[in-house]
This record gives sequence, C-alpha cells and structure tokens, in this order.
Amino acid sequence: MKRRTVKVRVGRPKGSKNIMAPMVPVELAHCPRCGSTDRQRIPGRSPRVFSHGGLNGQGRPYTAVVWRHCRCSQCGQRFVERAYENRLPSEDAHPPGRGSRGRQPKGRDDEK
Ligand SMILES: [Zn+2]
Repeated sequence: MKRRTVKVRVGRPKGSKNIMAPMVPVELAHCPRCGSTDRQRIPGRSPRVFSHGGLNGQGRPYTAVVWRHCRCSQCGQRFVERAYENRLPSEDAHPPGRGSRGRQPKGRDDEK
C-alpha cells in the first residue's frame, strides 16, 4: 500500500536572507574562589524560588529571585547562584513544544 508522505516545511524558505537576531549579553555566575563560570548544579538540590518582584541592579524588572546551588567545576567550591528572573504570566499556559503551530484555541474577539 502506498502512502503519501506529507512534507512539513520547517524554517524560512530557501533563498531568504538571514535575519540577525538581537544579541543579548548574559552575565554568568562565577565562582567566588577562582572566578570560573564553569559550574555544575548540585544534584538533589532543587532551586528555591522567591516570588517577589522589583528592579534588579541593571534596572530590569524581575518577578522572582531564584537560588540555585552550584559547584565550581574548576576548584569544587560550592556556592549559591542567585538569579533575578522575569517570569511573565502566560495567557494560555501551554507546554513548550514543537508542532503546535496553528492549532491554538483563541478566546479573543479581536481576531477574525
Ligand atoms: Zn572555582
């Protein structure tokens, strides 16, 4: 029995120009002892999330402060990485995944 395979197009069409995505610098946590940013999460220690918001040192808004226990890959120093995260509430909390395009139930009236 012959089955027709349906090709799903992924990405931009051929020949289209590359679009530069904006570059966003990230400041990684570094070891307080040796300064390395090479670190590992300590297994079994789940991150602590403190839900309170404000502005971080760079004036960026955040909604949660997250503590993650890490160990330096270079010298073994343990430390707690503290991250200011801006967790915006999603309207429809759908799990991130591929292939869910075009099938989003919309409850809005402003689209027809
Ligand atoms: Zn270190």
